[in-house]
Amino acid sequence: NLSDKLDRAFKVLKGQGQISEVNVAETSKEIRRALLDADVNYKIAKNFADSVKEKALGQDVLTSVSPGQLFTKITHDELASLMGGESTDINLKGSPAVILIAGLQGSGKTTFSGKLSNYLKKKKGKNPMLVAADVYRPAAIDQLHVLGEQINIEVYSDKENKNPVEIAKAGITHAKSKGFDVVIIDTAGRLAVDEQMMNEIAAVKQAINPSEILFVVDSMTGQDAVNTAKAFNDRLDFDGVVLTKLDGDTRGGAALSIRSVVDKPIKFVGTGEKMEALDVFYPKRMADRILGMGDVVSLVERAQEQYDEEKARKLHKKIAKNQFDFNDFLDQIAQIKKMGNMKDLMGMIPGVGKAIKNMDIDDDAFKHIEAMIHSMTPQEREQPKLIDGSRRKRIAAGSGTSVQELNKLLKQFDETSKMMRLMGNKQNMAKMMRNMP
Ligand code: GDP
Ligand code: MG
Repeated sequence: NLSDKLDRAFKVLKGQGQISEVNVAETSKEIRRALLDADVNYKIAKNFADSVKEKALGQDVLTSVSPGQLFTKITHDELASLMGGESTDINLKGSPAVILIAGLQGSGKTTFSGKLSNYLKKKKGKNPMLVAADVYRPAAIDQLHVLGEQINIEVYSDKENKNPVEIAKAGITHAKSKGFDVVIIDTAGRLAVDEQMMNEIAAVKQAINPSEILFVVDSMTGQDAVNTAKAFNDRLDFDGVVLTKLDGDTRGGAALSIRSVVDKPIKFVGTGEKMEALDVFYPKRMADRILGMGDVVSLVERAQEQYDEEKARKLHKKIAKNQFDFNDFLDQIAQIKKMGNMKDLMGMIPGVGKAIKNMDIDDDAFKHIEAMIHSMTPQEREQPKLIDGSRRKRIAAGSGTSVQELNKLLKQFDETSKMMRLMGNKQNMAKMMRNMP
C-alpha cells in the first residue's frame, strides 16, 4: 500500500549522511511513483513530490535525525496540508438541522447515516432522527430500521410513497413535531453517476434546503472516487466528504486527491461496518496513518528546535573567538532566508542599518553568494584570506559568476565579520534575529 511504498521511497535516503540534490531528486521521484500507484491524480502527485523536494532542499542538515526522517516529516506536513490542514466540523445550524446524505449505491450512505446519528447522540448530546428516502429498494428502508433499532434512534419512512422529495419534507415535519433537533436524510444511489439520480437528489436539496450535504464515497474505488466526487459536487455543491471503508486494504489515493479536486473538506471516515466505526477526519492523523510514523514526526520537530539553539550557541562562540568563516556565513544566509528579508531585519538593529545600506541583498544575490561559497574548498571557507587572484578566478568560473562579484562577496564577508565583532559577545546576529517579530 501507500505507506509501504513511501517507506521504500524514504529508504533511498537511508544511510546517507545528508540531504543532497541527488538523493532528494531520487526520493521525490519515488514519492511521486508511490502516489501514482496509490491512484493519486497525476497532477497532484507531481505537485506534491515537487513541493516535498523543494522543502527538503531548503532544509538544513540536522545532526540528530537522518535525512530519511527529515523527509518523512516534510512529507507528513505536506500530506496533512494536501488533505486540508485542520479538521472541519459538521454544521448543525437550524432547528432541526437537516443533513442530506448523497453518494453512489453501495458507497455506505445508509451505514454512515446510522453511524452519524449514533455519533451525534452519544458525542454531541443531540437528539437525531433518521429519514429513509431511498424509495427504490424496500430492503434499504428495512436496513435503516434495523440500524435505528440497534442504536435506539427513531427512523421515519413511508413505503407507500415513491417520491423522495415528499418523504424528506414529511420526515422533517415529523421531526419538528416530535422535537428532534437533527434530521439525517438517507437517499438512494445508483451504481454509477446518472442524470436521473442527480436530478432527484438536486430536487431534494432544492425542496428542503439542508444545513449540510455530505457526500459519501467508498475509498476503495480509487480514481473513480475522485470523478464521482467531482460529478456530485458540480451538481450539489456539497459541504463535506465522508470516506468509507478505510478499514480495508484501501489505497489512500482517494483521500489525497478528493480534497484538491473538489476543494471540500473530508469530515468523517468510516472504518468498519459497526455503528461505532466512525472517526472525525483529522488531516494530521491521517498523514500519521499513511506514513505510519507518528514518532518520527515529533522527533524531527524536537531536533529542529535543538538544532537552532545549538547553532546559535556555536556561532556565538566562534564570533567571540573571531573565527567566523564562510561556513557560518552560509548558515546565516540559510537562517535569514527562513526568516525573510535580511535587509529589513538587519536594518532594525541599531547601528547596523547604515553599515549594510550598500550591501546588495536580495534572494537572487543569495543564490549567487551560495554558489560562490559552494565553489570554495573547505579550507578556503574557513580561511578566506587564502583566496588569492588565481583562486578567485577558479571560484568565479566554478560558480558561474564573475571575479568582480566574488570580490564584492569577499568584501561583504569582511564587513560582516567586522560588524559581528562589533556587536560583540552578547548580541550575536542569529540570536537577535530570532528574537525579532
Ligand atoms: P449505500 O448503498 O450507500 O447505502 O451503502 P450501505 O450503507 O448499504 O453499505 C454498503 C456495504 O458497505 C454494506 O455491506 C456495509 O456494511 C459496508 N460498509 C459501509 N461502510 C463501511 C466501512 O466503513 N467499512 C466497511 N468495511 N464496510 C462498510
Ligand atoms: Mg442505502
